[in-house]
Amino acid sequence: MESIAANIECIQEQITAACIEAGRDRAEVRLIAVSKNHPASFIREAFDSGQIEFGESYVQEFLEKYDDPELENQGIEWHFIGHLQSNKIRSIIGKVSLIHGIDKLSTAEELSKRALQQNLQVNYLLEVNTSGEASKYGMAPEEVLSVAEDLFMLPNITLCGLMTIASPERIKAQEEFRQLRMLLDALKAVAPDPSPLVELSMGMSGDFREAIHEGATMIRVGTAIFGWR
Ligand SMILES: *Cc1c(COP(=O)(O)O)cnc(C)c1O
Repeated sequence: MESIAANIECIQEQITAACIEAGRDRAEVRLIAVSKNHPASFIREAFDSGQIEFGESYVQEFLEKYDDPELENQGIEWHFIGHLQSNKIRSIIGKVSLIHGIDKLSTAEELSKRALQQNLQVNYLLEVNTSGEASKYGMAPEEVLSVAEDLFMLPNITLCGLMTIASPERIKAQEEFRQLRMLLDALKAVAPDPSPLVELSMGMSGDFREAIHEGATMIRVGTAIFGWR
């Protein structure tokens, strides 16, 4: 295993190469370092090498890291990428810059209610189950369009785009990434204000190159940076 800093540099080079191949501007793709199940010291090492954005999947673990003396008030930008239960929303809003995994209208409603109570403006993505695998969270693609009108009306929260976890097979994954991009286009077409709808959070250690080819604006990479959990 190389050092965390060397791994990040290697991923950055691969992102640049994928952007060149895809004819995309490198600045359009952000790397989120997924640090779940890894200690605060690993995050600190990545941060010291220039990585700013981190993704966490579990509320309790996130809150511990958020308050860790090694990490707090350093300017880390946190993303919540896990499945979010309604009763946990209150504890994380205001601490994360983006919530990736909203997968129900009722959770978005709860998010809106809490954001209003705390006088916050919260950015979120809808998680879409593009693979159709029953084991995965996420709305069915057609469900996204059917709840869109309701979502757009909710105060104090802003839908910024879509997130997916693709199938393990790369060929399938690429197709699913394309599907997510097309769904975002469809969503923009029905949005009262399409300007915030810009993010496609897709691609992980094994498939981020395919995701970049299909338009990813955020890739979520864990294992390739921090090693196996
Ligand atoms: C763990 C996780 C990742 C990172 O996956 P790797 O294969 O380790 O890069 C990305 N997204 C989500 C939602 C995750 O839970």
